[in-house]
Amino acid sequence: MYRAYKVSHNTHKTPLRLFTSYTSSTTNMQLTPARAFVDNFNVAYALKHEAFENQFWGTKMSLKNGDYSTDLLSQTKKDMEDLLSDPKILAEAKLYREQLETSGEPNDDPDLMKILGVIIRTGQCNEFPTPEAKETREKTNEIEGTLEQARNEMSLGYTDANGDFQNASSVGLRTTMTTNSEEAVRKAAYASLRSIGTFVCEEGFLEIVKLRNKLAKSLGFQDYYDYTVTNAEGFGKDKLFEILDGLEEGTRPLMVKARKDLEKMHGEKALDPWNTGYMMAGSVIKKMDPYFPFSKSVENYIRSYSAMKIGYCGATMTLDLLDRKNKYSNGFCHWPQPAWVKPDGKCVPCKTNFTSLADPSAVGSGLTALNTLMHEAGHAAHFANIKQPSPLFSQERSPTSVAYAENQSMFLDSLVGDAAWRAKYARDLDGNAIPFEIHEENIRSTHPFQVFQLRGMLSVSYFEKALYELEDEELTAEKVQALADEIETKIQGGLSGRPLLSVPHLVSDEASCYYQGYTVSFV
Ligand SMILES: [Zn+2]
Repeated sequence: MYRAYKVSHNTHKTPLRLFTSYTSSTTNMQLTPARAFVDNFNVAYALKHEAFENQFWGTKMSLKNGDYSTDLLSQTKKDMEDLLSDPKILAEAKLYREQLETSGEPNDDPDLMKILGVIIRTGQCNEFPTPEAKETREKTNEIEGTLEQARNEMSLGYTDANGDFQNASSVGLRTTMTTNSEEAVRKAAYASLRSIGTFVCEEGFLEIVKLRNKLAKSLGFQDYYDYTVTNAEGFGKDKLFEILDGLEEGTRPLMVKARKDLEKMHGEKALDPWNTGYMMAGSVIKKMDPYFPFSKSVENYIRSYSAMKIGYCGATMTLDLLDRKNKYSNGFCHWPQPAWVKPDGKCVPCKTNFTSLADPSAVGSGLTALNTLMHEAGHAAHFANIKQPSPLFSQERSPTSVAYAENQSMFLDSLVGDAAWRAKYARDLDGNAIPFEIHEENIRSTHPFQVFQLRGMLSVSYFEKALYELEDEELTAEKVQALADEIETKIQGGLSGRPLLSVPHLVSDEASCYYQGYTVSFV
């Protein structure tokens, strides 16, 4: 389903022509230096962004056709960050803005201030004021690229009831834990998920944490968490945890009660991390499975979006929906070409890549894949409809707010759990709607435990906060694993079926210190 897009990053080294007045071919009007500056910047950014995002997609999807490698990924990311962190560009943008603010002349180009503003804000999020800071950033990017490739190629799986080893991605392992009736199999799937933590710690994650902190501290932030949140949300770590602490304290009694109820209903074993999901809802997930056939997922997504009049403004979308070996184990949506409006008023429609990890043969996978599809398609629809005069407004990195972006997608994926939505769209291959009894059983078995989902999201934020607060000498695999277990126990009441160190967001630059976005949107 994907289109391989061959790109040679060297062709995109378009130099920025700063302070250049030139004549617009469409209007034949003399451009002001400020307008020429922003026009050149927009074009240069769009090219570098696209070169990087094509590498991002090719390496994450492990595409064989095309020139993709972790070296090109690092190089194209460096090219893009070189542009965004160029102190000359930031200085010029500030100068033009100041000139416009103080000139006293009527402004006949209202978009100009807006574009200068977003260039300045984005430049500030990417500032590396010393050569050492830039070097630290580049070293981090390199280790991240190597670690992600190693992680994608990591062998994961479990021994099934017949004694045969089954390869499975982390998503497959979690589906197995929720639906397999053999406790030994579920336990083996959990053990495999836990092995991800040991693996990433050995393959460079701890070094990445040190370097991320080094960079953030050199820029005057408390640590990397503080740096990332400030860039994305416009307020720092202290403010964020004032919000999250209230939520954590307020929902703690619900979590304690839910765990007690779960134990009463299903016995003490239900609290074991490999049993909780299965004992809570394993049987109803099996009963629901025929009503969420993977083969109908794309149709259901398109029909429901269409009924809500959600359009894509001429976007080109590449969907890679199936789980397979060496593919990145997390759904995402990125944009090689962000949507924007050119100075002549022409819209540049976005090019979108999004992915889910469906395994049509696995029970429960259709529903998981549909959730991911509705979520990522929500991001795609949101960003496709941004009509602003620079591609910087529709790219997903800082200063774009994570909470704002996730709000759109989490609203849309929540429809899949909605009774009215299910009555209309959850149908088996013969067109029969999901029976009311199954619907009722699902609500009764999961609703009292909804707090687990929220606490699961919160635990990622509390873990990353604690992780980046460790001193360098404390960053050992044993200490970090012990910290993850401690946070799971504190926030989730016991070890979690999704071990914290298996969460893919922690490792990748663009998704680290990100989970507060889901929590805030959820609330
Ligand atoms: Zn999302």
